[in-house]
Amino acid sequence: MRELYLDHAATTPVRDEVALAMEEARRGSFANPSSPHAAGRRAKAMLEDCRERIRALVGATGRHDRLVFTSGATEANRLAVLGMAARLDVTASPGVAACSARDHTSCVAAVADLAARGGPGRWEAVRAPLTPTGTLDPDWLHHWAADKTARPHLLCTTLVCGQSGTIEPVVEPLVESRAEPLAETLPSDPVAISRNMLVHVDATQAVGFLDVSFARLVASARLPAATLALAPHKFGGPRGIGGLVVRGDIALEPLTAGPQELGLRGGTEPVVLAVGFAKALELAVAERAAEAERLAGLRNFFETALGARAREVGVDAYIVGGQTPASGVAATQRAPHISTVAFSCAGGGRGIDRQAFVMAADLEGVCVATGTACASGSSEPAPALAAMGLPEPLRESAVRFSFGRDTTPAVIEEALERLEGVLARMAGR
Ligand code: PLP
Repeated sequence: MRELYLDHAATTPVRDEVALAMEEARRGSFANPSSPHAAGRRAKAMLEDCRERIRALVGATGRHDRLVFTSGATEANRLAVLGMAARLDVTASPGVAACSARDHTSCVAAVADLAARGGPGRWEAVRAPLTPTGTLDPDWLHHWAADKTARPHLLCTTLVCGQSGTIEPVVEPLVESRAEPLAETLPSDPVAISRNMLVHVDATQAVGFLDVSFARLVASARLPAATLALAPHKFGGPRGIGGLVVRGDIALEPLTAGPQELGLRGGTEPVVLAVGFAKALELAVAERAAEAERLAGLRNFFETALGARAREVGVDAYIVGGQTPASGVAATQRAPHISTVAFSCAGGGRGIDRQAFVMAADLEGVCVATGTACASGSSEPAPALAAMGLPEPLRESAVRFSFGRDTTPAVIEEALERLEGVLARMAGR
């Protein structure tokens, strides 16, 4: 039976072109970039070339913007939160660090560790509420950003939520029911905002599918970015490497001691992985618009067809972030590669057990997930879904399907066929 991989949000296969570039680098640039001999200098030149290419591709165009290579997005998120916080002065006024349930566990854990490690009263951890459509609550954000006290503010935000695929409108101005738009209540100079409020943007699920520009995020009146995390294994690159883009004026405490990576992350640099990172990003950026459109079409077809097939076997399918439970109205913007679907037996009956569903799908050769891969062994449903106010039966039955370059219409058709059988059995048909 052909395996159907619908878990690209967890990781993607390394692209052939990327593997080829890495193989060439493995032969020619294997040396330690810190070694002063010719082989070391060659490796160093290769590493710096990758750094420059990646910086340009993510729009880190500020003169002093930096890119620090890390082991992945988890480490980049941690470096951003703990590294920035350590350099903020909280002796006079305690700092406040916020994240939300739509952030990856690495951001949530870093904020919790910051509050625990900072000593009493030094850093307070705050959980930002979400709207029913899975983005940061604009009213909360309004008060947070407009806080005129001197205490440092640090906010984690995630461009594309790995659990629901919903997009945080970081750059767009708020269009809300309140009398005045947020932009008018904030200083218009983003640097003026950033003195008190530092925003870390996790772009890990976004870079392969949305036009991510660090310069544009930095200039955002809503959430001016200080740092940005990404990892190439989400778009056809290797695992074991990621990056943190750091705005020129931001100081960071190192993650590990050592002279490498601008003194921010000690350890011999993985040049071959950096080559794979740069190559994968180049390909992803070049193909992004077309690929995003193709996947959005496939995802829409998948959701419509899955809903129809589910109904035929007595199951209701609810698209998370695609509609609000009460109104059924089309909701927030979603990334094209993630579709999170909750199943319940028709007529408001019990939900389908998501873990049993994933195992049954696996037996049918379809690889899907109950949520982010690092939490998939957990018996807890995805926290973002609870924070969006999804009723418990829906949260408990939510399954994440995610698509990538090898997802063709034929793969979707075959997956639908097999998933209908799974749903029928689970609904007792
Ligand atoms: N941030 C988001 C939004 C993610 O989806 C993931 C992985 O699923 C990560 C961070 C962690 O990435 P990595 O596996 O590279 O540490």
